Order: sequence, then structure tokens, then C-alpha cells
Amino acid sequence: MSDDPETLRQIEELAADDRPLLILDVDDVILDFIKPFPRYLQSRGFDLRLDSFHLHGNIFHVENGEVAATGHVTELIDEFFHGQAEWQTITEGAADAMAQIAKSAEIVLLTAMPHRFREARRNHLDALGLPYPLLTTEMAKGPAVARLRGPTPRPIAFVDDQPRNLVSAHEHVPDATLFHLTADNSLRELMPPPPDFAVIVEDWKSALPKIEQALGI
Ligand SMILES: [Mg+2]
Repeated sequence: MSDDPETLRQIEELAADDRPLLILDVDDVILDFIKPFPRYLQSRGFDLRLDSFHLHGNIFHVENGEVAATGHVTELIDEFFHGQAEWQTITEGAADAMAQIAKSAEIVLLTAMPHRFREARRNHLDALGLPYPLLTTEMAKGPAVARLRGPTPRPIAFVDDQPRNLVSAHEHVPDATLFHLTADNSLRELMPPPPDFAVIVEDWKSALPKIEQALGI
């Protein structure tokens, strides 16, 4: 898996830091996605019926019940992320947990979304009082996790709701502690199971002490 050159460029802009490192996904880890997204779709005349863990194929026109075409779904998702400030709230407990961890560790946000949305997301995070550096990637997350560690073998914890991102992180940084957290636990039955090496956490309250332990803080 190759590195995303734009993500590497963003990493090079970060200040050097050799403290323990917490890397966080954004959607459904620190910002709610799957809760507000159906409300946004309703406002546009669409319905989300999650029979599987995919957006494509599960979005329907309210008026005629027909499935939305792939290109149309992509447009809807794009529009949602452009207007994310209107919809995406902080996942319960995330802000307090991050504030606590940030006293003794570096926190970096790593979101898998097109780079063109980075500024909108940055502005929204700032407005919510979440000043942590934000990186975007259009490729697998593992190489970015490895690059973020830097030259010292500092402890790393990585939190994501997508099992494939945990697998990618594990491939590139085998000693990182990986957490599977999702803002909506009812989705777990639709998701592929998290990998065996991931620590499953139900919410930020239970995640906090486990992350602190993994980081040695
Ligand atoms: Mg996510």
C-alpha cells in the first residue's frame, strides 16, 4: 500500500513531538456521522435504510422508493461534508476525553476523506473547540500512522470505527494499541467484525482509561 503524498505533506507540517501519540478517526469517533446523516438525507428527499454497512445501495428516493444512483449518492455525501458544520455534532464524551489525554500526549486526527474537505472540517472542529491537528487521507491509514510515530518508538493508540482502518494500522505499526469505537453501537451487527487484535470499547467513558493505559499516561 503506497503513501498518500498529500497526507505526508500535511504530516511534515506538524510540530515535532515525542510524547505518546493518540491518533483518532473523525466520523463516528469524535463527530457524529451516522446519526445526523439520515436527517440530512430526509431534508433532501431521501431515505437511508441500512440493511448492510454501506451507503451506496441503501439510499432511496422518498417520492418513488427507487434506489439512488451511485453518482447521486456520491453527490449527496459531498454536499453533506461541505455543509458538515450544520449537521455534525461532537460524539458524546469525546471532547472531555481528548482534553484529558492532551495534557500528556499528542493527539492527531486522521480522517479518510477527500483533501478538498479538509478546510471545511478544520473550520468546524475549531468552531466546536477541538483544536487538534487534522490530517486528511485518500488512501489507507496505516502508512500515515507509521509516519506519525516519527523517529522514536513512542506508544501509539489508534481509534477508528472502520475495521479496515484498524487492520491497516496493525499492518504498518504492529505494536500500536487499536481501539474499535463507534458513535452508534447499533451498527455493530451490520459491520464486519473488528479484528481480534482490536480493543472493543462501547463509548468514550470506557475508552478513556484504556487509552491512557495504552499510552502509559
Ligand atoms: Mg469513521
